Amino acid sequence: MSRQRLLVANWKMNKTVAQARSFAEELGRQTSALPTGVELAVCPPFTALQTLRVILPSRVKLGAQNVHDEPNGAFTGEISAEMLAELGTEYVIVGHSERRQGFGEADDWVARKVRAVLAHGMKPIVCVGEDLEQRNNQATLSVVQSQTSAALAGLEETQLANCAVAYEPIWAIGSGQTPSPQDAQTVITAIRETVATLSGKAAQGMPILYGGSVKPDNIAGFVAQPDIDGALVGGASLKVDSFVALAKAMGE
Ligand code: PEP
Repeated sequence: MSRQRLLVANWKMNKTVAQARSFAEELGRQTSALPTGVELAVCPPFTALQTLRVILPSRVKLGAQNVHDEPNGAFTGEISAEMLAELGTEYVIVGHSERRQGFGEADDWVARKVRAVLAHGMKPIVCVGEDLEQRNNQATLSVVQSQTSAALAGLEETQLANCAVAYEPIWAIGSGQTPSPQDAQTVITAIRETVATLSGKAAQGMPILYGGSVKPDNIAGFVAQPDIDGALVGGASLKVDSFVALAKAMGE
């Protein structure tokens, strides 16, 4: 089964509305350089979703970086899945390590967020990954397998068909360090095997991405691996030229 190839930009807490607009306008001028066959998505801060919805080239999908699992209520500062869906959001990053570590997102909360995203017709991108200590203790596979099953267990096959996973070793995020593509392949194979315990069909079709210091000059090595279907990219997605270079390298 051929799987969707996917490049996702995670802008984190970067770009004002004006800056997001100028990114989208410049990207619009470069759309002919974007490869077909690669799904592209940009996840800006919430404040820029509406602007990007209007001016992002239609080739590029809109994503969000977080969501609350509850439909509404007394959750000051939070955003619901319905609010994101109303803005044309198609992808939602769930359980990014910066949220797990900095905002107390435990596995059970991540699982509830996944369900809220799916219930509103959007696609969750579930982030999993080990920290340096876990890596040094040879716990990488057990960590990612347990995070993956905590997020996805109990979903119907049709729901799993709308999920993606991003393997993001915490020590690689924003550090300039990466695992070798072969090491990332080994971990992603283990993630796919975990999904296969839930549904063999979903495991074959699910996009599983690598994330952590991906750049235009190293992305090709990752996406050449048989189980790595794309990348979740922070820093290198902030400039249009770099985003386009990432997309082109994935399309080759
Ligand atoms: C991320 O935060 O999801 C990420 C992968 O960041 P960076 O590409 O900057 O390492």
